[in-house]
Amino acid sequence: MEIKNNAYQIQGVDLNKVVKEFGSPVYVYDANKIIDQLNTLKNAFSKQKIKIKYAAKALTNISILKLMKKHGAGVDVVSAQEAKLALKAGFEPGDILFTPNCVSFEEIQQGVEMGLTINIDNISILEQFGHKYHNSVPCCIRLNPHIMAGGNSKISTGHVDSKFGISIYQLPHLLRVIKTNQINVIGLHMHTGSDILDAEVFLKVADILYGVARDFPNLEFIDFGSGFKVGYKENDITTNVHDLGIKLGKSFDKFCESYGRKLEMWFEPGKYLVSESGYFLVKSNVIKTTPATVFVGVDSGMNHLLRPMMYDAYHEIVNISNPKGTQRVYTIVGYICETDTFGWDRKLNEVREGDILAIKNAGAYGFSMASNYNSRYRPAEVLIYEGKAHLIRERETMDDILRNQVEIDI
Ligand SMILES: *Cc1c(COP(=O)(O)O)cnc(C)c1O
Repeated sequence: MEIKNNAYQIQGVDLNKVVKEFGSPVYVYDANKIIDQLNTLKNAFSKQKIKIKYAAKALTNISILKLMKKHGAGVDVVSAQEAKLALKAGFEPGDILFTPNCVSFEEIQQGVEMGLTINIDNISILEQFGHKYHNSVPCCIRLNPHIMAGGNSKISTGHVDSKFGISIYQLPHLLRVIKTNQINVIGLHMHTGSDILDAEVFLKVADILYGVARDFPNLEFIDFGSGFKVGYKENDITTNVHDLGIKLGKSFDKFCESYGRKLEMWFEPGKYLVSESGYFLVKSNVIKTTPATVFVGVDSGMNHLLRPMMYDAYHEIVNISNPKGTQRVYTIVGYICETDTFGWDRKLNEVREGDILAIKNAGAYGFSMASNYNSRYRPAEVLIYEGKAHLIRERETMDDILRNQVEIDI
């Protein structure tokens, strides 16, 4: 988003006009930003055989999936439904990694039937997998390295209390199960959580994976998961992907040499690819002055963007319809009958009732975590692609609220 001639725009498309055309609230995504992020990551590892498996759960719209495919990404899915969406978007089954957690063996079988690469994260499922398929279907193993990474324990997945992955301390048991059932393990995977600050955590995780890899002679890839951090505030530390490319690339090449074969290096970024591409545009309904603050009540809330309330996430907010207005301090809140605060003590250009606010970093885990709480419609989604605004999801209607509800005679 940039300001030109006093108007906030993306690829020359005026965002206030997007709201006029498609209504508010609305999620708007900049396709160019997504493509840039993909290319930055690819270029950082240009010397390695790198594969990017976009973590679809961050932003699951089918048009976004198609954009990812067009620009060379594969996809990481966490449910059979996400896999079906990815297939519908045109991904080949072989480009889809299925990384579910605590699902039934039936869902794993569905993944096998769809031809996906299965990433197994517990020994019980691995045993059932082995009984049924032996070495006829290859798989990947999700390990838990027990490294505390990420911003807080809700988004960190590699620590000791985490439900994710097979503990590296269970390696002897794991190897017995694999050998007894002749399971063909072609990949090792670790995903230690979101918001990892620097290359050092990746390097630590990598060293653990390299050590374990010696016990798996048939590997084709090592999947380092994700955790790439993007900036939410000005001056936030972000993952330096270029620096990571040099350091991790070097350690990976060295490992491949000792392993005896050049393996593929996989990553599963979600947030890194789509967070900054997204802007959530909401309208100011009321300005309410209390003894404590000046509230701006907007036409949205935790039902549409849950991250500030669930993770204490900081999302920058900009008044895009009064760019020259005097800056004042506001608290931006939602219209849901809960305490749903988007941000305390924010300096915004004077907000009037009817103004449009842009909430930044809304591309990842924004729409995909939206609900119908308070029987509100989920918002529309718009993709700015090749200089034009395209509606990629219609706003819901009363029919959507009533769909699947069964009214009985009472
Ligand atoms: C959620 C998830 C990701 C993506 O994490 P980001 O922080 O959005 O990059 C990657 N891999 C797996 C297995 C996940 O569950």
